[in-house]
Amino acid sequence: MGSSVSLKIDGRTVTVSEGTTLREACEKAEHSIPTLCWHENLTPANACRACVVELKGSRTLVASCSRAAEEGMEVMTDTERVQNARKVVAELLLSTSDASLAPDLRRLAEESGADAERFRGGSNWDQPVRVDNELYVRDLSKCILCYRCVEACGTDAQNTFAIQVAGRGFDAHIDAGFGRELPESDCVFCGNCVAVCPTGALIGKTEWDLRNEGKWDETRISTTRTICSYCGVGCELELNVLDNKIVKVTSPMDNPITQGMLCVKGRYGYEFVQSEEA
Ligand code: SF4
Ligand code: SF4
Repeated sequence: MGSSVSLKIDGRTVTVSEGTTLREACEKAEHSIPTLCWHENLTPANACRACVVELKGSRTLVASCSRAAEEGMEVMTDTERVQNARKVVAELLLSTSDASLAPDLRRLAEESGADAERFRGGSNWDQPVRVDNELYVRDLSKCILCYRCVEACGTDAQNTFAIQVAGRGFDAHIDAGFGRELPESDCVFCGNCVAVCPTGALIGKTEWDLRNEGKWDETRISTTRTICSYCGVGCELELNVLDNKIVKVTSPMDNPITQGMLCVKGRYGYEFVQSEEA
């Protein structure tokens, strides 16, 4: 059995096993920490700073998603400094991105009292929507550069390395290599980047079309779990059905083997189910 460490979180002593992050320790102490770039199945990217907490003796706020708990630490999760940092994070992200399909960012903005107009004027708003294939759409005006897609495409899941962050400052953006369209890139269309994108910047083409037609209704979507029939791996699928049609295929994030990831066939190869051809 591994050793444990004890620390104080908002005055309350919590004991966790060694290697536990401050975010996890805070959750254990029933202090929920807001996150944007953090994802349960990806390596913490330390990109968004929404999860910062104050640590006694530390000059700077620390990212709780990646900092490990240590014996004797004293952590404050809700000081004025922490609240102000979260508010500025939300304001900066709202200045460069359209949060209409980003519930976590909208919640952070609301809870921190962010002023959406404070820094308005960044460049992401002007990005054209890229519809260059039949499977998923890239609307990078919604991108918050959380790095989740890059990690899912890289060593955390897919190992294809088709996308990266290119450019700097306001010009930073997700790129498939030299500004290429996806079909010309190394992308294999597994859609694992789409599955982890928290803002709708990457979105299934079917969902995109239905939203544009005003026919997408989250409240009427039912989900059925099944096993993918394409190969012997046996990935678990969630068929998202709207008006008696499959409109999206996802995979449970808590599946210990696939952790929400699929290949192109499992995620997008469902049209045959509803084909009217014999
Ligand atoms: S669809 Fe798959 S291969 Fe293509 S960019 Fe996304 S994660 Fe990478
Ligand atoms: S496209 Fe989505 S997952 Fe990728 S960096 Fe932007 S917001 Fe994050």
